Amino acid sequence: MSRNYETIFENNRSWIQEKLGDDPDFFRKLEAGQNPEYLYIGCSDSRATAEELMGLRPGEVFVHRNIANVVNALDMSSTAVIQYAVQHLQVKHIIICGHYGCGGVKAAMTPQDMGLLNPWLRNIRDVYRIHQTQLDAIADEALRYNRLVELNVQEQCINVIKMACVQQRYIVDQYPIVHGWVFDMGTGKLIDLNIDFEEILHGIQKVYDLTDSDWVMSRKKNKNLL
Ligand SMILES: [Zn+2]
Repeated sequence: MSRNYETIFENNRSWIQEKLGDDPDFFRKLEAGQNPEYLYIGCSDSRATAEELMGLRPGEVFVHRNIANVVNALDMSSTAVIQYAVQHLQVKHIIICGHYGCGGVKAAMTPQDMGLLNPWLRNIRDVYRIHQTQLDAIADEALRYNRLVELNVQEQCINVIKMACVQQRYIVDQYPIVHGWVFDMGTGKLIDLNIDFEEILHGIQKVYDLTDSDWVMSRKKNKNLL
């Protein structure tokens, strides 16, 4: 796998030619600005790419990646990305994408001292604790590991939905919608966990409502009752 890093610059020159061959204005359009519909939050794992696995081109997806696709309220990096994407880029969809075989999730399943990684992995260990009954009931370790990957995605979706910027914009636009996906590296497939965004939003409203107003959904519900 090891290559001379000069190869990267050769690749870059070929890529420029390829893009210009398809569209002579390609780079002028890139330079003009971005208007992506999607924010993708995924794992830093080198095998779980963002644009390539979704078949999207430059300009089509705003991306944030970290170990095990975690969204923590005290992590300024992910929260700033989400805030910018929601308020300024006005993305319509926020995707949390985990992947089976995630080293970060595996490490979190291993109860041992990981040094500087401890506070980060604790986010995922907390997911294990929240769902411990369900996870401990899965005897097969590989299946338990896969399930923790899925539950971690689900909990990170909830963390995104807890954010004021997401709640406040949803009231106005009914966007962004939050989605939870898993990338299966063994098959290349993207699996939609079908997170019920509206249900979660409604469910956490009592504790995490940061909008200082009635929810659109509450209003909808009230209208239905009338
Ligand atoms: Zn990973």
